[in-house]
Amino acid sequence: MIHYEGPLFRPPSEASSLILQVTIGCSYNDCTFCGMYRHKRFRVRPVEELREEIRWARDQLGEGVRKVFLADGDALVAKAALLEQVLAELNAAFPDLQRVSVYASPQSLQVRTVEEMARLREAGLTQYYLGIESGHDTVLERLKKGVDADEMIRVGRKAGEAGVKLSTMVLLGAGGRELSEEHARESARVVNAIQPRFVSTLVMTPVEDTPLMEEAERGEVDELTPVELAAELRAFVGDLELEGSIFRSNHASNYLTLGGSLPKDKPALVAALDEVLAHPEHARFVPDWLRGL
Ligand code: SF4
Repeated sequence: MIHYEGPLFRPPSEASSLILQVTIGCSYNDCTFCGMYRHKRFRVRPVEELREEIRWARDQLGEGVRKVFLADGDALVAKAALLEQVLAELNAAFPDLQRVSVYASPQSLQVRTVEEMARLREAGLTQYYLGIESGHDTVLERLKKGVDADEMIRVGRKAGEAGVKLSTMVLLGAGGRELSEEHARESARVVNAIQPRFVSTLVMTPVEDTPLMEEAERGEVDELTPVELAAELRAFVGDLELEGSIFRSNHASNYLTLGGSLPKDKPALVAALDEVLAHPEHARFVPDWLRGL
């Protein structure tokens, strides 16, 4: 059996992946906006349990599993030797395995060396999801991300050096009204410096049991309007200088669903956002009841 300790989270693009909980919770667990693992105490699971679950999954699902996601919040922080054992088991159980991916906090990228990440990539761990959230130091500090923009760039580049594909997230609205444009531009600067394979945006939304929700209840959080968020997204996309990335704003929290390959589709994305800003009354904003929050 697989004994999931809920609640489970995974990126939208891992909807069809087998989820294996290598760690429980998040080793950092301090970001003000994140309520995913507040009630879980962080621990790394024993390899024997994971081995049993992999074998059980092979017996239940057959050998055809192609994608595996290693949960919970930052399983990359587990020792490289353990991750290597898990990858060896996965490769033995699923000969058609194409991709293993994981959430990588900046803190987990600080502890893993480039050599370890390269070895793990060769064993199949080819993609990390990294929440950059902002490239603005004041915003990162307010969010208690635990790193500044320079450190975010350094750790993001480490993954790139190891040949790992990075899928990065930026939190629209995280700078409030006052820092909106600076947050957009600084975030683009950090993303440009990292050159991730994927860039996506989410809209910062206070959720239960988080410091951000407490701030919102005290009236300290600006909730940007869909048009203000479109202006922020326009500033962000306009400053992106990417050499070969996919951009998406398809997470359920977004008001505008956009996507494209960069640099090719940048002019079309910018034009679409300019059109929204010029004629917001005709824009197709996703209504709140459909945003799946
Ligand atoms: S590092 Fe990720 S999972 Fe951990 S608290 Fe921050 S956002 Fe949440």
